[in-house]
Amino acid sequence: MSNISITLSEVQALDRADPLRPLRDRFLVPDGIAYFDGHSLGPLPLQTITNQREVVEKQWGEQLIGGWNAGWIDAPQRVGAKIARLIGARPHEVIVADSTSVNLFKLLVAASRLSSRGVLLTETDNFHTDRYIASGAAEITDLQFRTVSREKIGDSIDSDTNLLLLTHVHYGTAERYDMAAITKRARGAGALTIWDLCHSSGAVPLQLNNDEVELAVGCGYKYLNGGPGAPAFIYVAEHLQDRLLSPLRGWMGHAAPFDFAADYVPAPGIDRFLAGTPPILSLAALECGIDVFDGTSMQAVWEKSIALFDLFIGWMAERCPEMACISPREAERRGSHISFKHPNAFEICQALIDAGVIGDFRAPDVVRFGLTPLYLRFEDVWTAVERCAEILDSRSWNQSRFSARRKVT
Ligand SMILES: *Cc1c(COP(=O)(O)O)cnc(C)c1O
Repeated sequence: MSNISITLSEVQALDRADPLRPLRDRFLVPDGIAYFDGHSLGPLPLQTITNQREVVEKQWGEQLIGGWNAGWIDAPQRVGAKIARLIGARPHEVIVADSTSVNLFKLLVAASRLSSRGVLLTETDNFHTDRYIASGAAEITDLQFRTVSREKIGDSIDSDTNLLLLTHVHYGTAERYDMAAITKRARGAGALTIWDLCHSSGAVPLQLNNDEVELAVGCGYKYLNGGPGAPAFIYVAEHLQDRLLSPLRGWMGHAAPFDFAADYVPAPGIDRFLAGTPPILSLAALECGIDVFDGTSMQAVWEKSIALFDLFIGWMAERCPEMACISPREAERRGSHISFKHPNAFEICQALIDAGVIGDFRAPDVVRFGLTPLYLRFEDVWTAVERCAEILDSRSWNQSRFSARRKVT
């Protein structure tokens, strides 16, 4: 095992030496909280508070409808271009729209029509919304919806595969696919791959162009700190953009929405993946969340994520040996969260939250901690493990108040 021995003052010295330390001051992180849930809902950037006031009071309040021509209408492209910088894409290859689920549907249906092949392939243990959306898209396009285990994905791509849909970083274990290798293998077999980047964008360095990725979607409210229900994004490689047609032909994806033409003419490029009117308040919040990354690189963020992981796994092994880590130890094989299995994971997670350490539970028996280098300190990792040790040693998790299940876990 990878036990380590370290003191609190050594951990605090890591924080003092951390080049990303100043970024924490750009977030509202409540006192007494160690926040390990940025992979589910990023915290509030302070800039978002002043910016929302400006957008509501000055723009909506005073400019009224004039706001559309004063910058609102271009927000999906402008914010998309900022995401492009974080994921290694060209600015005009990303647009912000709808939710990840809806974007997946649009891409699946649009891309499936490029080929007459009959199978839509995904991983059995893919995130459930991906499975649900894919099964619905398959029904509509007359594709066979096929799921296989993670280990069998590579060998299951064959001459019947129309589309391969994969989530790059697994929401539970944090296992990460080799994006370039799988995309290449699928393309070699004549299939297109759609990547879900929900647990990747803002979390790990991505090189979509270099890796020759053609299609992807991702989420705005996790590592991008866009706020609850922030809009999602869609990426289409330049060479495919004008060959795809969104099944949701809304007026915002029309070549000339304000011509009010009788027939649909798709906008050139990525714009055709818009459907309805963009949510300006949410887009403004997402833009502030992404702007926190300005002046840093995903490589620097990732290096700190690795250091947080190494401290977490090593100190947990030392202090809480009964928590079994299920995330890959090799950095290049995982994303930016760490998960542990325990038969009483649910109660332990609730007891941790009660003690100010906020992670989350994933059925049936996993506690998950997001490692988000923009605002997490090494000391927070130390605190999380210490609280966990206290909870396990005293069995304080074993109280009925920690076993009550609510709607959202
Ligand atoms: C969070 C997440 C989603 C979220 O989809 P929404 O439509 O925003 O609810 C989708 N896929 C994966 C893999 C996720 O982790």
